Amino acid sequence: MQVQFNVMIYTLIFIVFVIFVIYAFYIVKAKNVKAVPKHWHSLLKEHVLFYKNLSKNDQTIFRKRMMLFLSEIHIDGVNTEIEELDKILIASSGIIPVFGFSNWSYNNLSGIIVYPDSFNEDLQFSKADKNKRILGMVGTGRFNKQMVLSKKAIRLAFKNKTDKHNTPVHEFVHLLDKMDGKIDGIPELFLGKEFIEPWLSLMHKEMEAINNDTSDIRKYGGTSKTEFFAVASEYFFERPKLFKQKHPELYKMLSICFQQSK
Ligand SMILES: [Zn+2]
Repeated sequence: MQVQFNVMIYTLIFIVFVIFVIYAFYIVKAKNVKAVPKHWHSLLKEHVLFYKNLSKNDQTIFRKRMMLFLSEIHIDGVNTEIEELDKILIASSGIIPVFGFSNWSYNNLSGIIVYPDSFNEDLQFSKADKNKRILGMVGTGRFNKQMVLSKKAIRLAFKNKTDKHNTPVHEFVHLLDKMDGKIDGIPELFLGKEFIEPWLSLMHKEMEAINNDTSDIRKYGGTSKTEFFAVASEYFFERPKLFKQKHPELYKMLSICFQQSK
């Protein structure tokens, strides 16, 4: 009887301890997430069309998720100052493609490096270099878990709301593509096995149309499966209504992939 009683006491103490640890973990985590500055709502409405089109309730969720994103991902400027608007636009780009998933943390990303302008493959951005054409990239090797973005491209992505082009969203879509281990234009983790074949044949058809100049999807999407997925997704998030009208099958597929439809 005494032994059983002891076991019960120890079990109870252990359970209380576990609950305490979980509670403490959440308190620490919650403390890192800053409150949403009041004026961000109007900044978001002004600059981020995706946000503007959300319901009031979803806008509140969007803002909270932005703050969680900013508490988890470090943003550093190289030769450029990271202004408040840059933070808002970068966090928005991160949230837009994953907004359909109720809980999401980019565990394959720890930091974002922002350069003032486009850069070359060696991450150089001197004015004299004519090969500096890259606007954004997902880092590999030494830069694994890093993303590099051009500040000019971030600003431009949200300034022009009709061009179906958004560099930071493009890079975040590459990161989602990378979740299954490789960036190959096949988001296996999100599509589910039964949609892989249909996705491949649809992608083939749409890429052919791009390369035959009979598609309104940006030319860069015809260069590889990887880029097709990212470029088509930019269009899907930037101009959903037009995309649905022009590419209904592709729209359906990306709605399944991102668990969002508009
Ligand atoms: Zn790309």
